[in-house]
Amino acid sequence: MTARAAALAVQDVSVRVAGKDLVRGVTLDVAPGEVLGLAGPNGAGKSTLLRTFYRARRPTSGRVLLDGRDVWRMPGQWLARRMAAVLQETAGDFDLTVYDVVAMGRTPHKRAFDGDDADDRAIIAGALERLDVAGLAYAPFDRLSGGEKQRVLIARALAQQPGTMVLDEPTNHLDLRHQLDALRLVRGLGVTAVIALHDLNLAAAFCDRICVMDAGAVVAMGTPREVLTPALFAAVYRVDAEVTEHPENGVPQVVLRTGFPALPFPRNGAP
Ligand code: ADP
Ligand code: MG
Repeated sequence: MTARAAALAVQDVSVRVAGKDLVRGVTLDVAPGEVLGLAGPNGAGKSTLLRTFYRARRPTSGRVLLDGRDVWRMPGQWLARRMAAVLQETAGDFDLTVYDVVAMGRTPHKRAFDGDDADDRAIIAGALERLDVAGLAYAPFDRLSGGEKQRVLIARALAQQPGTMVLDEPTNHLDLRHQLDALRLVRGLGVTAVIALHDLNLAAAFCDRICVMDAGAVVAMGTPREVLTPALFAAVYRVDAEVTEHPENGVPQVVLRTGFPALPFPRNGAP
């Protein structure tokens, strides 16, 4: 059974590694079923913060609570039944087929040595289908393209049937169609989700709120309309941006001023 969407509370979380503050006193409340985008420049601390949620990096101080329970004080299986993570680093210990990788999503729901029953197989088949990787089920995971791997890892998270998902740049390597499909899918599940995203137009389209980090700290938090301002782009990203509205749905859209001459070609008298 799919876990219930949970409230995620991040309370004054700091991570200090080798004398460096990678995350500085982050406090966030994510409501059940809310989709929160996590943005910020390279090295802002997004991945490090997300690691504290799925217990890959213990906070130096502060707490991460899922429905009021400190994730660091609960059994591993308790968390694995409730939270799935889709990560960037997919170091290949995978001498496995695509099917095997997705089937791993069922592990937290089983006892040791249980095989896949008919329900498990149906869930795995459904996840392969929804991520458009059913045709690759018997291909070796290691041989896939970056985008295909990413979709398989999302399918694994889906097979886990979590109430909460943590996704670190899940649209990296995906083509446009699959970027939209992946975010629509996550959005449509009704799960609580925290998604690190570089594409702020996608974040604006699919996230209820956006949290922006810089140098380990939260520097902006709110609805896409509140957060995505020319002032933010100047201060945090050091780019000159215009914020307009999507012509169909009014969602904020970012257009960068490139400093490059206007069309038409040829430019600068090039032949
Ligand atoms: P983001 O995901 O926002 O790009 P990260 O959380 O990956 O940022 O990294 C934040 C900062 O912490 C970066 O400057 C990175 O180099 C540094 N960092 C990450 N992991 C470690 C580590 N294990 N030891 C020291 N520095 C680290
Ligand atoms: Mg990162």
